[in-house]
This record gives sequence, structure tokens and C-alpha cells, in this order.
Amino acid sequence: MRSPVTEYLDAVRESCIADGDDGEVASYIPELAEADPDLFGLAMCTIDGTVYASGDAEHRFTIQSLSKPFAYALALADRGRDEVLRFVGVEPSGDPFNEISLEDNGRPRNPMINIGAITTHALVGPEGATAEESTERVRAGLSAFAGRQLEVDEAVCASERETADRNMALAYLVRARGKLQDEPHDAVDGYTRQCSLLVDVRDLAVMAMTLASGGRNPVTGEQVVSARVCTQVLSVMATCGMYDAAGDWMTSVGIPAKSGVSGGLLGSLPGQVGIGAFSPRLDGFGNSVRGVRACERLSEDMGLHLMQAP
Ligand code: GLU
Repeated sequence: MRSPVTEYLDAVRESCIADGDDGEVASYIPELAEADPDLFGLAMCTIDGTVYASGDAEHRFTIQSLSKPFAYALALADRGRDEVLRFVGVEPSGDPFNEISLEDNGRPRNPMINIGAITTHALVGPEGATAEESTERVRAGLSAFAGRQLEVDEAVCASERETADRNMALAYLVRARGKLQDEPHDAVDGYTRQCSLLVDVRDLAVMAMTLASGGRNPVTGEQVVSARVCTQVLSVMATCGMYDAAGDWMTSVGIPAKSGVSGGLLGSLPGQVGIGAFSPRLDGFGNSVRGVRACERLSEDMGLHLMQAP
């Protein structure tokens, strides 16, 4: 028998589908353009580790930018907040995800845009870690957040590598300003592998709930990172997570969140719920149209807005 929560998620999905099919599938990475635009999955994980899912919940897609908050969490855990802040800032950029967005001192503005995420990838692992070690630490660390071993989609990874000129340029720029700890090629290579990890909406919900539970995975019980690290990550997600629509999102939905170009979206409400959504059609900011709608409804129906008095 389906639980009332799953039936509720079904109803939210259906209402979002009824709203139309606007938006475009991302095409700048050739392999992503092949995605079926009608796929739509939605999942929710509660604090006790129960996962509810609806629609195309088994479909796996590349995590893309949704990997950024978790890689940031690992860098904070491995190097400490002060050290990470020497290399990457925490100010919203208001710029698109692939913009050249540096502070006067050469620091990328935040870890949620590509230039900051490439810099952050190179900070994962102990000081002196090789590029391979950082990349494996990211894979293993994101797997701990998800509670299962994540694997790379080699076809998407190769496709993105072939078209990574802009990310490469960003990496060289940061390197020239003394803020990139790896060789630009290695950093972009590792970052591209990070973005190509395969997840489904259940994974996203569990990963989001782990951040919302002070770093303890509610399914496996593993303490993946500290509660302090999660506070830092969720704060940056709240201010910088939704590309250049972050302010709009925070006022209307009010949940720390991150979206990605493959159509994934995750929301993480401290102490309450982790949400995962996937629908490949994107709006002009690069956010999943149906994913955003679904979160707006969940927030409204369940009173999830962080700034709403109880
Ligand atoms: N791998 C993608 C890139 O760097 C991620 C972008 C995104 O999801 O925003 O272009």
C-alpha cells in the first residue's frame, strides 16, 4: 500500500506536470542534450531516514552542480574553515554559474559557481594530496553522504571534458591569482569527474537530509562531516545555491538548496527534511522548472519556509 506521504508527492508531481512543459534541456554538454525531457522524479527524506519517492525515482542522472555543496563540506572538514576561506569566499555573485567571478584579492566569490567549485575541488583531502587522491576523496565522500557507492558516468564525463574550455580558462585564471592548489588540468579533470557522479532523487534526498541532520547520514548512521561544517554549507547554499535566482528562491521557497544543469535540485531544511527532485527542462537561470515548482508547493503546503515564524 502506498503511504499518504507518497500519494501526496504523486499529487504534487501531477500538479506540476499540469502546469505545462516549459523550459529547455541543457545542451552545452552534448551528452546532456540526450536526456528525456519528460522524466520527473521527486523524493523526500525525513530525519529518521525514511525516504518517500514518486515518479522516475529510479532514474540515474549526473549530479553536476549539486555536487558543489558536498565537495565544499569535504574541503571544510579536511582543511578547516579559515584555510578554505583563504581560497574561496562566501559572497553571492549574482552572476551565471560559469562567470569569471573573482574578488579583488583573486578569491572566487563562492564555492557554488564553477570558478569557486573548481578551486574547492583542489582543497579536498589533506594538504599535499595528489589530484587523484582529491578526486577519489570526493567520490568516497559524496558516497558517504548518499549512503551507497556512487559511480562516474564515463560518457557524460568524456563529453564534458571535450567541451570544458571555459572551465579550463577559469582554472588558469585562479591559478594565475595564486588560489588554485592543483594544476589547472588536474583540477578541471577532477571537477568534471565530480560532476559526472550518478545519482537518483532518493540519493539527493538522503544527501540533503545528511546536511540537514548536522552531518549524520540518517540511513547509515555515519557521521560524514561535523555539524559546524553543515551550518557553513547550508548558509552558503541559502545565499548562493540557485544560480543568479538565489534571492528569488530564498524569498519564495525559503529552503537552502542547490540546482544543477542536468535538472537535479536538492533542498535541505535543518532538522526537518531533505528533498530531491529531477526534471531536465531548465528555466533561463538554469534551474529545473518542475523541480522549482515542486519545491514551491512543498514549502507552501508544509510551511517549510525558513523565515516563517512557527
Ligand atoms: N559540470 C557543469 C559545468 O561545470 C556543472 C554546471 C552546473 O550544473 O551548473 O559546466
